[in-house]
Amino acid sequence: MASIKDSCFITAPGFCPDCGSILPLLGERGGVMCYACKREWGSEVFGDMEMTYTINFNSKHTYSSSREADDSEDDADGPVVERRCPQCQNDKMSYATLQLRSADEGQTVFYTCTKCKYKETENS
Ligand SMILES: [Zn+2]
Ligand SMILES: [Zn+2]
Repeated sequence: MASIKDSCFITAPGFCPDCGSILPLLGERGGVMCYACKREWGSEVFGDMEMTYTINFNSKHTYSSSREADDSEDDADGPVVERRCPQCQNDKMSYATLQLRSADEGQTVFYTCTKCKYKETENS
C-alpha cells in the first residue's frame, strides 16, 4: 500500500476532468494542458486528486479500526439500560432478547453488566 500511495502523491500524473485522458505532470506555470482535448487545467486538478486519495486512505483506516472495536465488544453488544448489576453495583447493563418459538412463552432477556460482564437472564 505504501508504494501505491507514494506513486500517487509524487509521480502519478492527474487525469483530465473533461475527457479522462492522462495529463502531463504539473508545469512550471502551475497548470497543465490536456494533450487530448487541449483544455488547460490549473494545479487544482492535482489537488483534487490528492484529496480523493486522502479520503480513501482515511475511510479505509476508519473501517478497519471500527471493525476491531466491534470485535472487542462482543460480550456487551445491544442497547444499554439502567439496571443495577448485583455483582459490582454498576448501574448500566446491556441487554439482548431472545424470542422463543411461541409468543405465548414470552421472551428471555439477557443482561450483561457493561463493567464486570456479569450476566443474568430474565423471563418476561
Ligand atoms: Zn482532456
Ligand atoms: Zn457488574
